Amino acid sequence: MSEQETFAIFVAVMGTLAIAQYFFFERAPVNFKRQWRPWVIVGNAVVFSIFAVVMVPAALWMVVLFVPIICWLQFRSTRICSCGATLYGNGFSPPAFCQKCGAKLTN
Ligand SMILES: [Zn+2]
Repeated sequence: MSEQETFAIFVAVMGTLAIAQYFFFERAPVNFKRQWRPWVIVGNAVVFSIFAVVMVPAALWMVVLFVPIICWLQFRSTRICSCGATLYGNGFSPPAFCQKCGAKLTN
């Protein structure tokens, strides 16, 4: 498989995952989102990591170093309100209140 074919598959797979992730975070029921959020984040990271290392083997150290940090920041800064809204923090801290219903976010 050529590098161009691999890159085309990478773009198609990551685009599909991005669309699926959009529907997951915007449309899925609250309990489903809360239950599956860690697996969605880690699953996306694993797929990205595999493609990154296959396409650029020298990027292994960056994948090993940065992908877990990015996953942790994403998990830490995203909250799901009981009203169903998915709320994103600034990347380093989670939102304190729901922007949709105003509830205080605790988890
Ligand atoms: Zn809310």
